[in-house]
Amino acid sequence: QVKMNGKNNFMLFDPSMNEIMENKASMEQDLKRAIKRGELEIYYQPKFNLEQNRYDGFEALARWNHPIRGFVPPLEFITIAEESNLILELGTWILEQSCGFVREYNRTHHSDYCVAVNVSALQLLNEGFETMVLDTLEATGLDPSYLELEITESVLMDSMDLAVEKLSLLRNKNIGIVLDDFGTGYSSLTYLQSLPITTVKLDKSFVDDIALNEISYEIVSNVIQIAKSIGLEIVVEGIETDEQLQVLKKLKCHKIQGFYFSKPVPGSELEAVLSQYE
Ligand code: C2E
Ligand code: MG
Ligand code: MG
Ligand code: MG
Repeated sequence: QVKMNGKNNFMLFDPSMNEIMENKASMEQDLKRAIKRGELEIYYQPKFNLEQNRYDGFEALARWNHPIRGFVPPLEFITIAEESNLILELGTWILEQSCGFVREYNRTHHSDYCVAVNVSALQLLNEGFETMVLDTLEATGLDPSYLELEITESVLMDSMDLAVEKLSLLRNKNIGIVLDDFGTGYSSLTYLQSLPITTVKLDKSFVDDIALNEISYEIVSNVIQIAKSIGLEIVVEGIETDEQLQVLKKLKCHKIQGFYFSKPVPGSELEAVLSQYE
C-alpha cells in the first residue's frame, strides 16, 4: 500500500513529485500540438560586430506562448522536447523558420545578415541531422555561409568522435559552427584548435562583473587572446552595460550580444532594431 500523505521518505510518493510528473506529461502533450496551433514563434537577437561597428547577424531563440501558462522558458520546453524526442520535429521546424526568415529578410533589405540557430545534443547526434540541415538550406535557398549552428560544450564532451565527424561535414559545406556557453563545461582552451568550429561564444557569467573585477577581466582577456591566436572568432554573450561594452572593445573582442543592444525580438520588430546601426 502506497502512502500518499504524511512526510514519508520516499521521493517517489511525494505528492509534489507526482504533480511535477503530471505537469510534465501535460506539457508534453501541449508541446506536441503547439507547432500546429501556431503557439511557437522565433525571436531574434542581434549580434554586434565590434570591428565593423554594425550588426552582422542574429541568433534565433524559440518562444512558446502557451494559451494558459503564458510564455514558457525555452530551457524548460527544450528539455521536455529532448526527453520525448519531440526535439527532432521541433528543431527542424526552428531551422526551417530561421533560414527562411533570414533569406527573405536579406532579399527584401539587400542585406547580408547571418542567422545562428541553437542545436541540442539529441538533434545533432540523430542520424539524419546533416541531411536535414543541407535539405533545409536548399529548400529555403539560403547560402550555407549565412547559417551558424550553436552547439554547447557538453555535446562535444559526451560524444566527441561522432559530434566532430558530423560538424566537420557541415563545416566543410561552409556552415559556421559556434561553441556556445563556452566556459560553463569542462572543455579547455587547449583543445579548441582540434574542433571543427569557427567561433567561441563566451558565457555571460564570465563578463557579469568584468568592469569591476580584475580577475574576471584577466580571464576574459586571456580567453579572447587564445581564441584569436588559433584563428577563431570570439563572441561574448550577455552584455548589459556600457562599461562592459567599453572593456570588450578595448580587448578587441570580435562580436558581442546582449540586452545592452537588444533583447530577442519577434521577426516583425527586427528591422527597427537593426536599422539603428546600418
Ligand atoms: P543560449 O543559446 O545561450 O541563448 C542566450 C540566452 O541568454 C537567451 O535566453 C537570451 O535571451 C539570453 N540573453 C541574451 N542577452 C542577455 C543579457 O544581456 N542578459 C541576460 N540576462 N540574458 C541574455 P533564452 O532565449 O531564454 O534561451 C535560453 C537557452 O535556451 C538558450 O541559451 C538555448 O540554450 C536554449 N534555446 C533557446 N532557443 C532554442 C532553440 O531554438 N533550440 C535549442 N536547441 N535551444 C534553444
Ligand atoms: Mg545560443
Ligand atoms: Mg549562449
Ligand atoms: Mg548562455
